[in-house]
Amino acid sequence: MDKVIITAAITGSRMMRDVAPYIPITPEEIFLSAYEAWQAGAAICHLHVRDPETGLGSQDVGLFRRVVEPLREKTDLILSLTTSGIPGRNLPVEERLAPLCLKPELASFDAGSINLGGDVFINTPDFLDRAAAAMKEAGVKPEIEIFDLGMMVTALRMRKEGKLEDPLHFQFVMGTPWGAPATPKALLHLHDHLPERCTWSVIGIGSGHLPMAMMGLIMGGHIRVGMEDNIYLRRGVPAKTNAELVERVVRLAREYGREISTPAEARSLLHLPPFKR
Ligand code: ZN
Repeated sequence: MDKVIITAAITGSRMMRDVAPYIPITPEEIFLSAYEAWQAGAAICHLHVRDPETGLGSQDVGLFRRVVEPLREKTDLILSLTTSGIPGRNLPVEERLAPLCLKPELASFDAGSINLGGDVFINTPDFLDRAAAAMKEAGVKPEIEIFDLGMMVTALRMRKEGKLEDPLHFQFVMGTPWGAPATPKALLHLHDHLPERCTWSVIGIGSGHLPMAMMGLIMGGHIRVGMEDNIYLRRGVPAKTNAELVERVVRLAREYGREISTPAEARSLLHLPPFKR
């Protein structure tokens, strides 16, 4: 089985300190948390930035730069920047795609619309076409986020149309209150629809965090953990750092007998070119 690639999703865009007391908010905090996650074994960091004034997610390129530049200087992490903005706020397309100008190796590509956090996270067919074209032009590999089977159908159609090109990389998002549940059966069902030559990773939201990570391990997929998806180590015990969440899956993977992929090895597994500073 391939080595396992661990992605750390550092902060997301909407969870605030009242519910998540240790969530990183400022660019400096996000950088530090990503740096620690890298030291703990993460090969990829999925990044949002927050407006330091309001604490909410932002697509401001200046803020992204304050996280991306020091990470590129001090680590060899693969960076995956969000294009979601704030799910449910539905920012203009240009704003959502603005971080692509920083040429991350990966960027999130949410393959359809879904209810999320009391709103609708809108990803129209036109947005998806534009996002796929912009990523192709910028040389950024889409990380195709799949919340339900319809999104898989959409991604496969776009593959057929040549808008998304092999080898694809999927991220299954299991356990949001509006999409596929974080159950082995639901994951297997989505997994059954994967095309040839692709790679995949899985996220379990909240209490689905650990079960989905273990499914990813067993099924030969990759794993995403981090405070964007889950803030607890155990019931009632919040993680104080993203590194703690990474360390836990590193321990599990080692016990199970799967080695942890370095960023360089992850680049080769994901068919990305070697790291350039
Ligand atoms: Zn995200």
